[in-house]
Amino acid sequence: MRTLRFQVASVHREGTRLFAGGRNCSDDLTLGDVVRAPGGDVRVEAIVTYRKSLNVLDRGLTGELELSGEGVGSIEPGTELVGSVQTDLPKLEILGEGQLRSQEKPREMRDCPRCGLVSPARSVRCQCGFQFEVDDRAAVAREHGRWTRSARVHMFGGILLAAVGAGVTALGYLTTAEHGGGYVVWYGAIVVGTVLAIRSYWRIRAIKSLGRDSEAKKG
Ligand SMILES: [Zn+2]
Repeated sequence: MRTLRFQVASVHREGTRLFAGGRNCSDDLTLGDVVRAPGGDVRVEAIVTYRKSLNVLDRGLTGELELSGEGVGSIEPGTELVGSVQTDLPKLEILGEGQLRSQEKPREMRDCPRCGLVSPARSVRCQCGFQFEVDDRAAVAREHGRWTRSARVHMFGGILLAAVGAGVTALGYLTTAEHGGGYVVWYGAIVVGTVLAIRSYWRIRAIKSLGRDSEAKKG
């Protein structure tokens, strides 16, 4: 007789089938074994471990069971499947390549197409207010257009300010050269204008790369 105990860590449902990832905590499990879930019995239809589909899951190993039966609805992470069966174990066989379904999650992180901030996969909304479920990319593109135009205005404003500062300084210098006396360097205007222009330029590039990222993801 074999005593069965499988500790479920993750589940994935597909129609009436349930894929339960976890650890075999007792005797070896095999295809066709019936174990008890809180909501009723379930039958082991397939076993996957280390990307192989097998007919036996050895004691102590982690793997994934494909289950059917009336109890599948009651199985959740943390559920223990228990049972005892009289049937003997078959010889271990590798039945083919296997794919784990219960461990497809957690999904990758979510990049906000609006501001580029990364959020956990389950997030519904980014800190900037963008709603992932609504995902209105047309509105985001319009908004990025507005941001870019405003950054461009700031960039040209910065260039103008720096140019005026430099021009006035140059004029003062030339006047001094001719008539003697001191002249004033308009550091403030030059520095503030240059910083503003450079920052706005980087902002425009950042907004552009946001747009490219979301285009790439869409396609
Ligand atoms: Zn955002």
